[in-house]
Amino acid sequence: MVEAIRGRYVLIGDNKGSMIKDGAVVFDGGTILDVGSFSEMEHIYHPEKIYGSTDHVVLPGLVNAHQHGSGIDMVRVGATDGPLEPWIINGWYHPDGRNVPIFYENTLLAGLKMLKSGVTTTVHHYYGSEAHSENYLETMDVCLQAYRDLGMRVAFAPVIRDIHQFAYMDDDAFISRLPTYAVDSLRKLGKIPVQYPTATQYFGAFDKLRSQYKDDKIRFLYGPAGPQWCSTQLLEEINERSNQEGIGIHMHVLESPVQRKYGDREYPGGLIGYLEGLGLLDKRLTLAHAVQLTREEIKKLAMAGCQVSHNPSSNLRLFNGVAPLRDMLEEGLSVGMGTDNSCPDEDMFREMSLCSLLHRPQRIDASQIPSSVILNMNVANGAKIAQFEGVIGPIEAGKKADLILLNFSKIERPFIGPDADVLTIILALATKSDVDTVFVDGNPIVEQGSSTRVDEDKLFQDIRQKYQLKGDTSEAKRLRQAITGELIRLYKSW
Ligand SMILES: [Zn+2]
Repeated sequence: MVEAIRGRYVLIGDNKGSMIKDGAVVFDGGTILDVGSFSEMEHIYHPEKIYGSTDHVVLPGLVNAHQHGSGIDMVRVGATDGPLEPWIINGWYHPDGRNVPIFYENTLLAGLKMLKSGVTTTVHHYYGSEAHSENYLETMDVCLQAYRDLGMRVAFAPVIRDIHQFAYMDDDAFISRLPTYAVDSLRKLGKIPVQYPTATQYFGAFDKLRSQYKDDKIRFLYGPAGPQWCSTQLLEEINERSNQEGIGIHMHVLESPVQRKYGDREYPGGLIGYLEGLGLLDKRLTLAHAVQLTREEIKKLAMAGCQVSHNPSSNLRLFNGVAPLRDMLEEGLSVGMGTDNSCPDEDMFREMSLCSLLHRPQRIDASQIPSSVILNMNVANGAKIAQFEGVIGPIEAGKKADLILLNFSKIERPFIGPDADVLTIILALATKSDVDTVFVDGNPIVEQGSSTRVDEDKLFQDIRQKYQLKGDTSEAKRLRQAITGELIRLYKSW
């Protein structure tokens, strides 16, 4: 059945910032047939159903290029924002933290929030149970089920790490720096002796998952946690398999100032030189964060064809600073955008707005990054990072009908002047509350701002019931303080 989505403006999302006034996107069976003026589209295709109106704006579905399926923000369980390295410990060793087995609900909540902000595709860098735990496959399975239930696209990247549980140094050496009571607590919690999954366990589960999910809305990526958390041997094996199978790699790289120091202490060419030496720098690799890159490294990554996921909210919340986005764009590095589950309510419009606000040099002749560049980064480069290049992205015939209808009459109230740029208005003023309808494969999976498939109230109730807040115990708190205190002492001495 031929259907159409109409808007006072259709914003294509391409790198030229193309826009059609009183336009429409025509699709059939989930695939876009054409895009043009509404009168022309109506005349040629006689669509049986027309969504939208002149009160709406049509945009391509957005992409969240890096997140971990954590619908429950860590501040809710008492893990206050702080510098990355101690913050991770605070999250992992919090009794109410990541270990609560609500993988499905947590992912569903994250996905639902994203979807309602117009995100139709995401990369899920999966932390949760690990490859050596009994429920590894099962927990990944329920996460993928959550995306299926929502109707979203996902690139699923199971994380693996096999070194540096506590700090960027040998585990035993770090444990020996801790007070006896902390070591005893770790032993009691089963955290030592430290156990890591083997590559065989990881690849075994990865292959099984891939064979189970033959779904055109799901892609798989290797997800090594980061070069400081993976052994050289593991990265070599991932590289070899990725090369053979043509599967991409998604990895945190140079997120924090401490990681910069670690890499520079450890390798003559820093972490980027190290990855280059391993043969990992090419179009298969996406670097999440990449805050601490030098201009030379940016050049190198751009030449190699790598991608970066820029995660501005997360970088600020975890004291990592501001990624050199302008340098990246100038060097032609392909940059997408992720929330890392750190943007309030997973609102991609707020994330794009923050991205626009952050990179404003203090020069009299400076100007903001064009809004068209920001939208194009999100949809086109995001599609590449999520392995859906050519399938989704800027609106054009042949692509999947993943589209958003924004309620523009609400945004423009009380008025907009004739000179104002529509996309700039949207990026400056819109929030997810302006998202009216979201389509994936031409199916409306959000209508009037609510999921057509998931009962939000029931989800909240399920989470409240399962996520019984136990409150902090003094032992766990003492343990976290001992580890984070030692981490800070260690890194300050570097
Ligand atoms: Zn992350």
